[in-house]
Amino acid sequence: MKRVYLDHAATTPTHPEVVKAMLPYFTDAFGNPSSIYSYGQEAKGGIEEARSKVAELIGARSEEIIFTSGGTEADNFALKGIAYANGHKGNHIITTSIEHHAVMEACNFLERRGFSITYLPVDGYGLVDPDEVKKAITDKTILVSVMHASNEVGTIEPVEEIGKIAKEAGVYFHTDAVQTVGHIPVNVEELKVDLLSISGHKLYGPKGVGALYVRKGTRLVSLMHGGEQEKRRRAGTENVPAIVGLGKAVELAGQTMDMEAERLSYLRDKLIEGLVERIDHIRLNGHPARRLPNNVNVSVDFVEGESMLLNLDLEGICASTGSACSSSNLEPSHVLLALGLPHEQAHGSLRFTLEQENTEKDVGRVLEALPRIVARLRAMSPLLKSIK
Ligand code: PLP
Repeated sequence: MKRVYLDHAATTPTHPEVVKAMLPYFTDAFGNPSSIYSYGQEAKGGIEEARSKVAELIGARSEEIIFTSGGTEADNFALKGIAYANGHKGNHIITTSIEHHAVMEACNFLERRGFSITYLPVDGYGLVDPDEVKKAITDKTILVSVMHASNEVGTIEPVEEIGKIAKEAGVYFHTDAVQTVGHIPVNVEELKVDLLSISGHKLYGPKGVGALYVRKGTRLVSLMHGGEQEKRRRAGTENVPAIVGLGKAVELAGQTMDMEAERLSYLRDKLIEGLVERIDHIRLNGHPARRLPNNVNVSVDFVEGESMLLNLDLEGICASTGSACSSSNLEPSHVLLALGLPHEQAHGSLRFTLEQENTEKDVGRVLEALPRIVARLRAMSPLLKSIK
């Protein structure tokens, strides 16, 4: 049975061209980039080439890119780095109730250390209202952090408008663009951001590498101290093969992004329409139009997301659920709750995220399997029986 992988927002396979680009940096060009002899300079060259590729894709300058261990570190770096460098100006940070845990938890950490955090609500589609951002800014505000697009429901936020508001107020603006870089156009000038987070493994690069864009002149405290790497902004010997891999992944994404976005939007809509047609009591989560090209997130009444997920897995289909992530956490997704979904609907959610390898045949496999699985689960469901 051919497996159908539809969980690309969780991670993507590493592109064979990326692996090929990385390999020499494990063996032949293994030098420490801080060494001044040729081995070191060869490795340094790989890093700098990757840096200019990342900068080019997002309309930044090379020196504004700091490599990190991934999106989580980039988010932590942006929030804590700005908070501790600008604490003398104010202690207020504005974010939203639908951010990734990397932003949420960093905010919780800062809140416990005397910073004041405003978590803005979203509407039923997961959209942040730029006017709410404007209203929340005070003379103590030092940072606004709003994600570019939701990893769960795919809603694309009005980041450009929010950037304008932050700029006018003289407040730093960070966006978590982990789910958008390499998938839809991202330009730091158009978005008017000062900081932007990127992750390698969401765009066919390796895991454990990412980057933070930091606009020239931004006051940011380092989280890592030790060496001189990354112009003293992030100490530690660089993960050269991974950084080279990120550079290659970004280069490839830039070449195919526009065509892929169009193809994926078609497959996404086909999957949404097919599911709505075949399954009663199902609803699309997230915005119908301002939506990532690869994201389908639905809530199916009277069934548990985990049960659908496990049954799909038995049929070789990998998806994800917005409810409990592990057996130790039975709370539904904070994102779906922020959209106003009742707990039952949040528990009955499924996310499919498509990418390069997916075809119409894969969409067909889901459209054949899921209605059958839902019908079987509903036949056994105490939830459904209780309303009959
Ligand atoms: N931000 C968003 C929106 C994400 O989707 C993810 C990963 O799921 C992260 C941050 C964390 O990135 P990483 O896995 O590279 O640490």
